[in-house]
Amino acid sequence: QGVSVHFVDFCDRAKLCQAIDRHKPGVLVMETVSNPLLRVADLDEVAKMGRATQAALVVDSTFTTPLINRPLEHGAHMVVHSLTKYLSGHGDVLGGAVISDEEHLEPLRAYGRLVGPVLGPFESYLAMRGIKTFPLRMKQQCANACRVAHWLAARPEVERVFYPADPAHPDRAAIERLFAPGLYGAVVSVELRDAGREKIFGFMNALRTIVPATSVGDVHSMVLYPVMASHRDISPKQRERMGIRENLVRLSIGIEAVEDIVSDLERALQA
Ligand SMILES: *Cc1c(COP(=O)(O)O)cnc(C)c1O
Repeated sequence: QGVSVHFVDFCDRAKLCQAIDRHKPGVLVMETVSNPLLRVADLDEVAKMGRATQAALVVDSTFTTPLINRPLEHGAHMVVHSLTKYLSGHGDVLGGAVISDEEHLEPLRAYGRLVGPVLGPFESYLAMRGIKTFPLRMKQQCANACRVAHWLAARPEVERVFYPADPAHPDRAAIERLFAPGLYGAVVSVELRDAGREKIFGFMNALRTIVPATSVGDVHSMVLYPVMASHRDISPKQRERMGIRENLVRLSIGIEAVEDIVSDLERALQA
């Protein structure tokens, strides 16, 4: 549609400033939590920069959900969510939602009428049925993820754990300010020590409770190998620049008894 797009690391304030100065964007698009390394950009700061150049700010809050973060209260103009993930919660419906401020609502509706992204009745029904239990599921998933991240960090087979509850997280200040107390999301990424593809495949094949899937936010725990899934189209060199290594797996933690998740991981790490 004749729109030029430029990518920039929103966690790098200087680079973001420079990119805004150079390109004078009409819209800034960011995610509350990056995938799969779970960095958290300073939304208040980005909103301030956006206001200075009158760029609209669109925030994808899929990983944080409305329970953890409310970007409209931090200066976003529109928030987008994948309904497919935590909001529906059962991996059986594909959908999305846009939540807009007053100013952008009518143009958004007009655009929606033109392009027709209308959810079907059955998908709407599934999404609404799922949303009824959303906060219960999400709280349990966050609590489980905290336990799993903590457990993984102490394992000798693990090189590094990425999780927003980590006291040494590079975006600690933004996380404290933006996230609801005690809720850090339910995605945990982990680097296995000295693991290449073969070892990662062995680990994934040994899992029984945790299933391989290219999604997050389902009631059951899932595992994804970014190098072979979400980030397979990115060159190895570019992946390395992004910090996405061959020994990295991403876990989406579900609502199971946390002991079951941990024992599944333990067996697979020793496989
Ligand atoms: C999955 C995902 C999307 C796309 O969601 P759909 O389910 O395809 O509508 C967008 N943003 C994030 C952060 C996601 O995880």
